[in-house]
Amino acid sequence: MANQFDLICIGGGSGGIATARRAAAHGASVAVVEEDRFGGTCVNVGCVPKKVMWNAAHHAAALGHAEAFGFDVARRGLDWGTLVARREAYIERLNDIYQSNLDKAGVTAITGRARFLDPHTIEVAGEQYSADRFLVAVGGRPSWPAIPGADLGIDSNGFFALRDRPEDVAVVGAGYIAVELASMLRQLGSRVRLVIRRQEPLRAFDPILREGLMEAAEADGIEVVTGFQPVGVEAGEKLTLYGEDGRELTGMDKLIWAIGRDPSTEDLGLANAGVELADNGTIPVDRYQVTNQAHIFALGDVIGSYELTPVAIAAGRRLADRVYGGAGDSYLDYSAIPTVVFTHPPMGTVGLTEPQAREQYGDAAVRCYETRFTPMDFALEAPENKRRSFMKLVCVGDDEKVVGVHLFGIGSDEMLQGFAVAVRMGARKADLDNTVAIHPTAAEELVTMT
Ligand code: FAD
Ligand code: NDP
Repeated sequence: MANQFDLICIGGGSGGIATARRAAAHGASVAVVEEDRFGGTCVNVGCVPKKVMWNAAHHAAALGHAEAFGFDVARRGLDWGTLVARREAYIERLNDIYQSNLDKAGVTAITGRARFLDPHTIEVAGEQYSADRFLVAVGGRPSWPAIPGADLGIDSNGFFALRDRPEDVAVVGAGYIAVELASMLRQLGSRVRLVIRRQEPLRAFDPILREGLMEAAEADGIEVVTGFQPVGVEAGEKLTLYGEDGRELTGMDKLIWAIGRDPSTEDLGLANAGVELADNGTIPVDRYQVTNQAHIFALGDVIGSYELTPVAIAAGRRLADRVYGGAGDSYLDYSAIPTVVFTHPPMGTVGLTEPQAREQYGDAAVRCYETRFTPMDFALEAPENKRRSFMKLVCVGDDEKVVGVHLFGIGSDEMLQGFAVAVRMGARKADLDNTVAIHPTAAEELVTMT
């Protein structure tokens, strides 16, 4: 029957596509349902456009440093429209590649919004489809505050839709998206206020990364407004943001909400399928990505933990290997997942933070090695243009097993992956010490720390 499959994946983003292609490679008949563009958040309004903008900001910073090396360059401006048009053309090429990869894999692509009618049937654009198993990988969307005038702001999708560079921006939020957007907009020349409701951003990260971030923010001229709980927005010639304590932030062209993301589990008919939700709308699963319904799986952002593209992909591939590829106990181990926050400079982190290690192993078992230094990139710079890098190794036990690596500084984004392998393999501090350094690099600090 044409509308009957072994597996239907709802959501054609990172998780849905990876699972579908791997299941099809194992011989399953598979369909993916996508209501928007294939590739999902990451490709269309997430990692990919973000990294293009980060690269643009990186070039802006490099132009600023060129003079120190004797170059006669002037930054005469940025044609934001050209940058955005080229970025979107690149994304359209990626959309086509995703579609053709599904075709090549023999996966049926269904366009439209899926809704469960019963545990084995969904409806898409008036048509019914059934399957033995389902994957729910519908991702999430930006959260908005429920305050008067909130709709005068934009979210990260709205940021990617901007056709001009805003001169004066407030970014509200304290997570990945807030610090990344604040940082890139500043490098690209905007006045930026990062508005956080507590005292520091990225509270879940190791303290040394926050220290590095706050130092760089101050040096780069990002105004961090702390302890500010927004209660309203008004528009005149410019925007005004009102705080609970009576403070007013005025003069913004744009206000960006970056206060988290909500799972897209509304209107999916999950109750018709008997799938239970957590109070925050995410779908609880076991280690095999199984919901409370044995034939319905969920993974990626919709489960609300480690909202990262490679995590969704890895969970999906392991699931498909287990269910269709005979890989008996295959599942994703969610520990020691490396992640990079694309600030300027970037930060990378894997494993336990120092506070987590102390909590888990006790103070006596934990030894940390840390360093703060000015990398050679800034050797010829005037003092006010120099920026420091920060690194920390969190080690536990008599054999000083490395359970956490935390990096902030130029190159951290590319440096981390290899050290994440080492952490996963159970490397000890002595293994790092026994590795010959590569000189002159910043990474060599990681094998020479005392
Ligand atoms: P998604 O990729 O969101 O895919 C879900 C898909 O389901 C969507 O295409 C949606 O249209 C579709 N859908 C929803 N409901 C239905 C329905 N009822 N019927 C049919 N289709 C439906 N991660 C990183 O690892 N690195 C980064 O640098 C990074 N940067 C990011 C920057 C931003 C601004 C954002 C917002 C996210 C970023 N992420 C990054 C996170 C990453 O994008 C997500 O973790 C990843 O996309 C999650 O994949 P997913 O498959 O769970 O969901
Ligand atoms: P996050 O969950 O990372 O951060 C949102 C933060 O905003 C909260 O932690 C909270 O911090 C603050 N906040 C929440 N509600 C409010 C409020 N009402 N008013 C003011 N501040 C508030 O969400 P993001 O939207 O930044 O990103 C979503 C996820 O996407 C990330 O967790 C990450 O997994 C993924 N992502 C990954 C990237 C990467 O890999 N480089 C880049 C971008 C996103 P506090 O409690 O401290 O105030």
